[in-house]
Amino acid sequence: MRTIVAGNWKMHKDRIEAADLIAAVIAGADAWSPSVDVVVAPPFPFLAEAVERARGTRLVVAAQNCHEAAHGAYTGEVSVAMLSSIGVGACIVGHSERRQYFGETDAAVGRKIAALLSANIMPIYCCGEVLDEREQGRHFEVVARQMDEAFRELDVSAIARTVIAYEPVWAIGTGRTATPDQAQEIHAFIRGQLVGRIGDAGREVPLLYGGSCKPDNAGGLFGRSDINGGLIGGAALDATQFTALITIAGEVMN
Ligand code: PEP
Repeated sequence: MRTIVAGNWKMHKDRIEAADLIAAVIAGADAWSPSVDVVVAPPFPFLAEAVERARGTRLVVAAQNCHEAAHGAYTGEVSVAMLSSIGVGACIVGHSERRQYFGETDAAVGRKIAALLSANIMPIYCCGEVLDEREQGRHFEVVARQMDEAFRELDVSAIARTVIAYEPVWAIGTGRTATPDQAQEIHAFIRGQLVGRIGDAGREVPLLYGGSCKPDNAGGLFGRSDINGGLIGGAALDATQFTALITIAGEVMN
């Protein structure tokens, strides 16, 4: 099972800051455990430069979104072919902020996953419930429905090549984290859904936890059996914290 530590920079950093952060992350690469894959997702304008800086290193550069169509009159959008042409290796899809502010649906996310895989770009599919749903005990049902809709049109091999990030919306950017038990419980549920859908291949799909994951809480989360790394927001904006998370992943998951 691969372990992945992925940083989502969201709409932060200017060009110089982005270059500095990439350089600082790469500076620690000699110490990365061979079993940890490291991914950063800068904003679109900085992707090409990030790919150039990451060339020859183990750092994978990801986009934060893409459009499902190959090309066309979609002002403001970016296709997977465009991402592929500059060497982007992964792409986050279905992030809760895109669902909340831009109306992204699981059906559209499913089409984005198919497009990404056709371009050999690794999709990082985000799912997770909002606070009300958690408080009503509906988190299992919500995540099952999200996966069902996103994966409906995908075949076994496509789902097997997709990374899943469980991100409880109530924990994103709030400083509130799912406890290791809460996270493991729903990750095990997601694993069960995957195995039900695609059989044993579902046991090999990396399941990342996201939501206020920091160096001081990552050890408890990453150590659990169905948590194969993290999708990191705030702590990915700081090279020291992000590097600490990579180190913790390497130590805890070996
Ligand atoms: C995220 O937005 O994917 C995320 C996990 O953010 P944070 O770590 O800041 O909660």
